[in-house]
Amino acid sequence: MPAGLNVAIIGAGMGGLASAAALRKAGHTVTVYEQAQQFTRLGAGIQIGCNAMHVLRGLGLEPHLRAETFYPRSWNNRDWRTGEVLFDMLFGQPAEDKCGAPYLLAHRGDLHAALASIVPAELVQLDHELVGLDQTARGVRVSFTNSRSTLADAVVAADGVNSVARAILFGEAEPHFTGRIAYRTVYPAARLAGFDMGDCTKWWGEDRHIVMYPVKPDRSEVYFVTSQPEPGFNLESWSTKGDVSVLRAAFEGCTSARWSIAIRWNIGSTATSPCRAMPAIR
Ligand SMILES: Cc1cc2nc3c(=O)[nH]c(=O)nc-3n(C[C@H](O)[C@H](O)[C@H](O)COP(=O)(O)OP(=O)(O)OC[C@H]3O[C@@H](n4cnc5c(N)ncnc54)[C@H](O)[C@@H]3O)c2cc1C
Repeated sequence: MPAGLNVAIIGAGMGGLASAAALRKAGHTVTVYEQAQQFTRLGAGIQIGCNAMHVLRGLGLEPHLRAETFYPRSWNNRDWRTGEVLFDMLFGQPAEDKCGAPYLLAHRGDLHAALASIVPAELVQLDHELVGLDQTARGVRVSFTNSRSTLADAVVAADGVNSVARAILFGEAEPHFTGRIAYRTVYPAARLAGFDMGDCTKWWGEDRHIVMYPVKPDRSEVYFVTSQPEPGFNLESWSTKGDVSVLRAAFEGCTSARWSIAIRWNIGSTATSPCRAMPAIR
């Protein structure tokens, strides 16, 4: 790609902001168009793999992320009834030595804020929801629902799993529902009342599991997420509220994990991820 292009990036999520920062480093002019009216600390826990950390290091974010996220010793896999350790998958220094970058556990909102901090605010156009992409002799015409439009040499579609850009270019894709959903939340660690959940623990049931890990270096915030069958569920959203009694009933057999600290949570979903829904406790 020749330097000096005028690039329109659709979506100011992880991919959009990272692309914006990388393209600016490569000498391009970028504008990011985001449908939301403001940035907020959305989402719950997110894993930052060693390969992603190589990219984030290149963007100058490694010191910030090491300071803001949790560095786990391992992923500890346990039986959900007895708590017996089934397999302790090492991360921490061994993973860093092997892969050349750390493996970190974060709040999605904190990773998003870190990426936003390296893209000048004036390059992000909020309240711009993509509605049209048209190739013209002078470039790509990018149109938004607010009636504005712009011309760009190139467009990067980073508008997430329900991408409008993808639908414009390749047609609508029906989501594939696996019949599984995930409940999720982030909450203060004080609610664990001294329960030792380890660095990152997965409690395995026969057809469902719970994962918990801290998302802050001082362990002050805990991420909780499940995966479970719920074949009749067909809602698509990152923010629909779920019912804690349904969650409790689904994990009645789980006596090992301390998770009954739920307050209230949201249910969301993705079209293509293995889990259709990600309910969260806020
Ligand atoms: C609200 C939310 C919460 C999430 N929570 C988690 C979580 O807790 N854990 C986890 O592992 N993953 C979470 N994800 C998913 C994760 O952020 C992404 O799947 C992953 O990081 C891939 O990044 P992405 O840039 O492709 O998409 P995303 O991070 O989903 O970003 C897409 C962006 O595009 C914007 N957008 C969408 N359509 C348009 C449009 N037509 N015009 C303009 N902008 C548009 C969206 O508002 C969003 O900001 C969440 C995503 C969202 C949107």
